[in-house]
Amino acid sequence: MENIRVRFAPSPTGYLHVGGLRTALYNYLFAKRNNGKFILRIEDTDQSRYVEGAVENLINALKWSGLEFDEGPDKDGGFGPYFQSQRLDIYNKYAAELVEKKNAYYCFCTPERLTSLRDEQKNQNLQAKYDKHCLSLSEAQIKENLNAGIPYVIRLNVPIGEKVVFNDIIRNRVEFVTATIDDQVLIKSDGFPTYHLANVIDDHLMEISHVIRGEEWLSSTPKHVLLYNFFGWEIPQFAHLPLLLNPDKTKLSKRQGDVAVEDYRAKGYSPEALVNFVALLGWNAGDDKEFYYMDELIEKFSLDRVNNSGAVFDIQKLNWLNTEHFRKLPKDALLNHLKSDIANSEFNEKKYSDEYLLLVIDSMIERVTSTKEILEKSPYFFTEPISYEEESKTKNWKPETPELMSELAKRFSLLGEIKDKHDFEQPLKELAAEKEIGAGKLIHPLRLSVSGMSTGPGVYDILYIIGKEKTISRIEKAVKAI
Ligand code: GLU
Repeated sequence: MENIRVRFAPSPTGYLHVGGLRTALYNYLFAKRNNGKFILRIEDTDQSRYVEGAVENLINALKWSGLEFDEGPDKDGGFGPYFQSQRLDIYNKYAAELVEKKNAYYCFCTPERLTSLRDEQKNQNLQAKYDKHCLSLSEAQIKENLNAGIPYVIRLNVPIGEKVVFNDIIRNRVEFVTATIDDQVLIKSDGFPTYHLANVIDDHLMEISHVIRGEEWLSSTPKHVLLYNFFGWEIPQFAHLPLLLNPDKTKLSKRQGDVAVEDYRAKGYSPEALVNFVALLGWNAGDDKEFYYMDELIEKFSLDRVNNSGAVFDIQKLNWLNTEHFRKLPKDALLNHLKSDIANSEFNEKKYSDEYLLLVIDSMIERVTSTKEILEKSPYFFTEPISYEEESKTKNWKPETPELMSELAKRFSLLGEIKDKHDFEQPLKELAAEKEIGAGKLIHPLRLSVSGMSTGPGVYDILYIIGKEKTISRIEKAVKAI
């Protein structure tokens, strides 16, 4: 293919929606597959929607997902700036060109007139549309209004009685009649461009070859096509991705579950699983393979295989993929994940050796589906227990238990260097035999003493990992506390 340049062009709302991740991912995969460039452009011309820190969040979420952009904020590729709010002069210059050519016009209508026009159209069951009232203003009147400082917008002059036809890679031929297209505002009364104008100008100037975006933008595309034609610019190829749906087939919404990538991240889902899952929302390779790593997705991805019907967001499938990916993670990746979870947790003050963390991972891997869950399910590897499970206390902590535990601690203290988890087994078995009690009478309260819990990996594994000293001090503490 020729020079492939694609872009992800979010409006910074404060978080990355999973639908946004899907759009970004398909753009990224398409670029990588075709030796193209993946560009990040920030569409921040809506002043009323400014959110502090939104761009940083967005870039972090993309990075976390493994979607590194080739050009964008702080990564100039010669087509910047990549923030639309820094390109206002450009938009105004091109808007003036359209006005000059009569493809756009000044509109001085008051909000009151526009509201009553809309109400009237509604009463008559007509589509809400501007009535081209200001198109008939004379040059002199326009000058006078401008000189008098009357607020204005600039509108697209949509031709009457024509058809706009374009090709979409996913939907093939798409056709709109101009009667259904509003004279879209291009420059707002605050001097900022609307999405439509800025988007078209930037896609042209940034030499975007393919516009890959959500289906919700399909109905805007005829306006864009008109703009390309008015400017005399080559039209990029379009690919509109299917909507994401809730299981009940309504549009994916916050009300029925998490929609932000950050939410899934916080819940401990791995980026590999989320990316794998999102890739399948509207695309498949033509077989029934579902487990993918990014490099395989890059190899297999094509826009021709994107469906045009809505894709259901099935959380069960995400959970399944998350477990699959987790179980297949290599040791060093698990270690890195666990370290970053620790850094973001209440346990971030202490340093743990890689050797220690690998032992923890080995003991817990079969019991969890994320490294974050290791912190939740076995906090005792990182801190002393501060409380003890009530049910286990009632069941396992008998009047004779404190004495038995103290004796056990004493015997552990006589052990030399611990070389194997079974080193702890010997004194426990001996004590049980001497007292003529079952080993369980020691094992359950021992587990409770060192972990505060009644479930987890084998008790000797826990002792071996936390070590002799901590084992003894925790037993002593439990004897006093319980
Ligand atoms: N700024 C638009 C958005 O927030 C971009 C749509 C497009 O890709 O053209 O999704």
